[in-house]
Amino acid sequence: MVKVVKFGGSSLADAEHFRQVASIIKADPARKYVVPSAPGKRYKDDVKVTDVLYNCYNMVKNHEDIDEYYKQISARYNGIISDLGLSFDISGELEYIKNALQHRSGRDFAASRGEYLNGLILAKYLGYDFIDAENVIFFKENGSFDEEKTNDVMSEELKKHEHAVIPGFYGVMPNGTIKTFSRGGSDITGSIVARAAEADLYENWTDVSGFKMADPRIIDDPCTINTITYRELRELSYMGATVLHEEAIFPVRYANIPINIKNTNAPEAAGTMIVASSSEYDAEKIITGVAGKKGFSVITIEKDMMNSEVGFGRKVLEILEDNEISFEHLPSGIDNMSIVISSASLEGRREKLINTITRNVKADSVTVEDNLALIAIVGRGMVKAKGTAARVFDAISNAGINIRMIDQGSSEISIIVGIEEHDFEKAHNAIYHEFVK
Ligand code: ASP
Repeated sequence: MVKVVKFGGSSLADAEHFRQVASIIKADPARKYVVPSAPGKRYKDDVKVTDVLYNCYNMVKNHEDIDEYYKQISARYNGIISDLGLSFDISGELEYIKNALQHRSGRDFAASRGEYLNGLILAKYLGYDFIDAENVIFFKENGSFDEEKTNDVMSEELKKHEHAVIPGFYGVMPNGTIKTFSRGGSDITGSIVARAAEADLYENWTDVSGFKMADPRIIDDPCTINTITYRELRELSYMGATVLHEEAIFPVRYANIPINIKNTNAPEAAGTMIVASSSEYDAEKIITGVAGKKGFSVITIEKDMMNSEVGFGRKVLEILEDNEISFEHLPSGIDNMSIVISSASLEGRREKLINTITRNVKADSVTVEDNLALIAIVGRGMVKAKGTAARVFDAISNAGINIRMIDQGSSEISIIVGIEEHDFEKAHNAIYHEFVK
């Protein structure tokens, strides 16, 4: 049995958390490979080490002196080392990094050092080998992640180590410079390591006991999800549910490795299991979760006899492509076509877009409405349960809310409704309480 364990920044924010993390790792011999984030916030207004490093980078860029400001990085790591009672001197590393920053090292290099230093300390504390991510995680020339090379090199490397710490968040470009994933990317590293180690389980340790069925800022004390499929999770994270980085699903999904979201501060809680297929895990509820986002606009194009015009849709989509706008949904009628896009992508090109569409497809009218919010109701249980859509719509209309758009994905695991932004919270509550009594 092999488990890959990733610990987030709040799980490694100070020495006390390091101790807790070590006791979790040592409690199960299967926990062989460990992926740490950089130290996160210790209290509400604290700063994450990654952010301090980004700030250092910006200061150097603005010709400001970082000598004084950088001291908080040294203090943070040296504090952890001395509180743990380790005899480990990282002053050379700290000096080297400061120097590199002062000599305008890359932005990603700067950010990655948070994980690098934390990995060194954690490896020392656990007595595990340290594998630098720059030797095992590769990006291609165009900046995209090189899955196959990484998997080949990393799996060979892991075989040489009974136990190891691999810092999260970064890898290397073909020219040898450091590149990071996007923010929160240590989750991705954990997933990549799990695939390369052919792990039985990828444990992702954070500061919450799993996914909630809805955003706790909107729904009071929502239930925790026990099991969720990768596909359901994709739908929910796409709609803004966060806990795990969206891209972290792909490597383990490919290798069919389940992910267990666990709480470092409450290790006995079961957390949430993310699994490939629902067959072994029957849905406990009709819906698994609800998530949503504000900030969408709808472009509606009307044209008589649109239905019989070959190539109409393609022409419209080409215009979006030329403007580098990606669309979210395309609900269409017989003589009209609506395109739901994020309002931000319209900025500065609204007029141009309307004019180009009107001209190129000879539309009767092209209108844009803003302030649309989307809510996704996701659940593998919906496939079997009749009348789910009706219950969603009833719940929304009984709350006195007007539905502006409906889209049921052909996958049958999600229903998406579009409503006015000001109805967002109310609609969320109505839907959630319809299914969770
Ligand atoms: N430390 C990085 C960040 O804050 C990556 C991570 O924590 O996953 O984004």
